[in-house]
Amino acid sequence: MNSRIYLSSPHMGGSEQRYVTEAFDTNWIAPLGPNVDGFENDLETFLGNGSHVAALSSGTAALHLALILLGVTKGDEVLCQSMTFSASANPIIYQGATPVFVDSEIDTWNMCPIHLEEAIKDRISKGKKPKAMIAVHLYGMPFKVDEIVKISEKYEIPLVEDAAESLGSTYKGRPCGTFGTISILSFNGNKIITTSGGGALVSNDPSVKEKALFLATQARDDAPHYEHTHIGYNYRMSNICAGIGRGQMEVLNDHVALRQGNNAMYQELFEMSNGVRVFTEPDENYVSNHWLSCIVVSEAANFSAKALRLAFSAENIESRPLWKPMHLQPVFKEAPVYGGNISEKLFENGLCLPSGSNLTRDEKHRIRTVIEQFT
Ligand SMILES: *Cc1c(COP(=O)(O)O)cnc(C)c1O
Repeated sequence: MNSRIYLSSPHMGGSEQRYVTEAFDTNWIAPLGPNVDGFENDLETFLGNGSHVAALSSGTAALHLALILLGVTKGDEVLCQSMTFSASANPIIYQGATPVFVDSEIDTWNMCPIHLEEAIKDRISKGKKPKAMIAVHLYGMPFKVDEIVKISEKYEIPLVEDAAESLGSTYKGRPCGTFGTISILSFNGNKIITTSGGGALVSNDPSVKEKALFLATQARDDAPHYEHTHIGYNYRMSNICAGIGRGQMEVLNDHVALRQGNNAMYQELFEMSNGVRVFTEPDENYVSNHWLSCIVVSEAANFSAKALRLAFSAENIESRPLWKPMHLQPVFKEAPVYGGNISEKLFENGLCLPSGSNLTRDEKHRIRTVIEQFT
């Protein structure tokens, strides 16, 4: 049997181990140290625009702290893109709040500004103004930043930008991860860069970073003993993991280019296929890192997304349906939703294709051979 080809697997650049060895040599085996500071610094430089970055144990932890810092609490409502990974929505529940899901639009597959505004007006008319909104740059594709930010400002509802999948993407030349009232990143094993597990909270307000670090390190007040006026969390990034992150930052741009190359390969492979759309940028304002390359297979095609997935699977190649919308998830079945058709259709007909920056020539050949059976 051929070795398995994954959707997206870790891809080390070469110097990660040197940073980790340095941590061992200097005994910084703790959730603080020079690699944590160095990694935060690298991210702040990469994002620019006055970003302040707090390195954390996961993207989920970053989302949780973002909601706490925005004052989301029991009984509040939080607007959230329905088509996303569950980690975008779960922290709303951690806070005892209620998610209000919003459908996608067809250009970027992300939060639809029209349904978003409809949801806000309707929630306000029902007597409760949403406390925050969570929008996601799915698969690396920037959401409609201008429209979403405008609505956030118009209704004075803070925007949590979930940039977990979009480090290296830009909108109008500006990096994803710099558009939220608070933004978050993820460095899980399958993301564009990895620290094995990790995340970050980003804000252009240094006091937000300071408060995030306070909460992430057990909320210790300034005293010789342990004094607490707040509930704290153990959410800081380890200095070992941050060492991996520093190495990964050295190759981030190369890895983005390789993933964009995968997308170009799929565009070429499906060029002649009726009814197949390779997910690409709607116009030149958007640059996706193409974390995952995806297709939608409509009825006009002579095959289904499922048939292609099974053919890949027979060759030990991983492919996967698109994110199942949160409003269809059993665990969120009570939550209100605005719209729904677009994300439901995408889920029905979509497929994520192998997208690693470490795909070899031989692996690309195996992928090509499967696709050519259908085109
Ligand atoms: C991966 C991911 C997260 C969560 O990040 P973790 O580091 O795995 O906790 C959140 N949102 C989206 C959209 C993601 O893809």
